[in-house]
Amino acid sequence: MSGRACGAYGALSAAHLDALATRHRAALRTVLGDGPVLRCSLEPHADGPHMELLHDGGAAGTALWARWGAAGADDAVLAAADCPAAAPDGGPCALYLGHPGGHSRWA
Ligand SMILES: [Zn+2]
Ligand SMILES: [Zn+2]
Repeated sequence: MSGRACGAYGALSAAHLDALATRHRAALRTVLGDGPVLRCSLEPHADGPHMELLHDGGAAGTALWARWGAAGADDAVLAAADCPAAAPDGGPCALYLGHPGGHSRWA
């Protein structure tokens, strides 16, 4: 990360696991191997669901993201295109196309 991240914790829910098992089966084992803990990668935000990269080994230019929110209402697994922008330090943004907040990258 180039700066602060939301960092909110979450956990894989039944909704996430159902989505992985039915629509993203190839990624399921890798995701489970990383453990059930989710941690939001977005810039700190007051509203809206949290997001964390789940799996980056699928089709080129896309990745699987876990979305979660209060009371599980927003839990979903999304296949999202990579954000094409550059982070403030010049590297590629590690988030997805259309993400809220500023661009950031893994560090
Ligand atoms: Zn968040
Ligand atoms: Zn971005």
